[in-house]
Amino acid sequence: MKSMFVFVVLIFLIGCNSDARSPVETALYNQGNDRIGTAVFIEQPDGVKVNVTAEGLTPGIHGIHIHERPECEGPDFKSAGNHFNPKNMEHGLMNEKGAHTGDLPNIEADGSGYVDVELMIPDATLKDAQTSLLRDEGTAILISSQADDGMSQPAGDSGERVACGVITLEADKDEASDPAEADQNKE
Ligand SMILES: [Zn+2]
Repeated sequence: MKSMFVFVVLIFLIGCNSDARSPVETALYNQGNDRIGTAVFIEQPDGVKVNVTAEGLTPGIHGIHIHERPECEGPDFKSAGNHFNPKNMEHGLMNEKGAHTGDLPNIEADGSGYVDVELMIPDATLKDAQTSLLRDEGTAILISSQADDGMSQPAGDSGERVACGVITLEADKDEASDPAEADQNKE
């Protein structure tokens, strides 16, 4: 009996550490709290891959970053805090002393404001670790109004925060209660 119990616990632990944590899907909201897209995070051997689709952006180049807190309170999204920086580096993919783990290459919205891109976050993981996007309660992904210049402190001079999505295991549960959430939004 005892060995059977250990076996079941072991299976449970293996499940938590890998499959259950990838992929993680995140809904993106604009400053008006309308859902404008989705980000899907997938664990890879060399980091975390993220597929971002969004509409309604200003055509042109935008910064996109992982931020340190899983809180998207509009319209300024300051609740998400600074760029995710577990390694205590400076900002910028072009900075010798950089970059933040949460710094990503700029994305470009087409003439109709649509974007569909695949990005890599090389230093990150979804597993239980210091650089985990799911560390503590999680993190957030934000799109900014301007391009990130890859150098300026603390955030690449990339303007306002125009879209936000919470990266957390809790997000999956919220998805299930979508109808109730939609009703709240109408009020
Ligand atoms: Zn940064």
